[in-house]
Amino acid sequence: MAAIYFHVPFCKQACHYCNFHFSTSLKHKNPVLDAMLSELKLRKEELVETEKINSIYFGGGTPSLLSSAEVSVLIDEVKRNFNVAVDAEITLEMNPDDDRPDYLEELKIIGVNRLSVGIQSFHEEELKLINRAHNAQEAFDVLNRIQGLYDNFSLDLIFGLPNSTPESWQKNVEYALQFNPTHISSYLLTVEPKTVLNHQIDNKQIEVLGEEDVLTQFNFLVDRLQAKGYDHYELSSFGKPGFRSVNNTAYWSEKPYLGIGPSAHSFNGETRSWNISNNAQYLKGISVGKPMIEREKLSIADRYNEYIMIGLRMQNGISLDYIEKNFGSDYKTLLKKGVQSQIASQVLYWDGDSLKVSRNAMMLVDGIASDLFKLNA
Ligand code: SF4
Repeated sequence: MAAIYFHVPFCKQACHYCNFHFSTSLKHKNPVLDAMLSELKLRKEELVETEKINSIYFGGGTPSLLSSAEVSVLIDEVKRNFNVAVDAEITLEMNPDDDRPDYLEELKIIGVNRLSVGIQSFHEEELKLINRAHNAQEAFDVLNRIQGLYDNFSLDLIFGLPNSTPESWQKNVEYALQFNPTHISSYLLTVEPKTVLNHQIDNKQIEVLGEEDVLTQFNFLVDRLQAKGYDHYELSSFGKPGFRSVNNTAYWSEKPYLGIGPSAHSFNGETRSWNISNNAQYLKGISVGKPMIEREKLSIADRYNEYIMIGLRMQNGISLDYIEKNFGSDYKTLLKKGVQSQIASQVLYWDGDSLKVSRNAMMLVDGIASDLFKLNA
């Protein structure tokens, strides 16, 4: 199993919380698309020829800024160069304001079989606060259309927004459920350095939501979605049975993936690599047949640390057996010793052979994981 990811590095406008790589100028759009086609061919050897591609994923940035014809050219090039499974999941992230006549229908015809819609909120004032390009009506409209056309679609919601209340959050969750999506991703608003949001908070224009309010929203989300039949398979991910994201599952289970486009990340089983996060430099590298890529070969300790970080976010938790088999018995001993205080304080608990995070500590999972890292990796 393997996956291919395209990073489409363009957005209409910058959301105030976002630190992904994108440009609001479409000046380089056509050259970047051409370069992505070249990069696919240049790097095809990085995925073993026999490896079946089970997921093609268009993320960004905003892939729905591309026409269906542009998306189709990229899908066809993948099919020409790789062994794509007949039932491969082909996902495109879209923003509600990018819906246009025939677009959803055309995407379906060219083979996109899953949409992931960046809703974030159904409330006008919240969308404005974070500077999303769409309005609330567009969020409802696009989901109405998608529901009639696609059997498999996901939507994103952000919780912990400034000024949000338990009631406003509950409405967001209920609005989302009305559309019966197969998948929901819901992220806590994080304040990233150098974003407008960070600046607004520093200047006291906006106040972050308190920890207790955040936890109340998270608990409502988990309880409500589980009651509606969603499997909470990863901290931020909820899927109806059989509808986990194939792309994300590949990342989380150390399957190989090839990331194409500026800032895209790749993994071949041993080495992680990432493309330069600059459109002009990316184009320059591809034009001379030398993609600008940084690579890092993972040591056993690196892989262990990644497993801890990802495993604690996953429903199955961290398996002692897996650690022993993949990293050795020293790592198993290290972990068992290292978690004693978190077990005593009920931040972590054992579920048979698996180490899991208690619900009340889930918002702190990244810090909990880093406390368990093998240092000097
Ligand atoms: S649309 Fe997505 S990638 Fe673009 S700025 Fe907003 S959050 Fe970031």
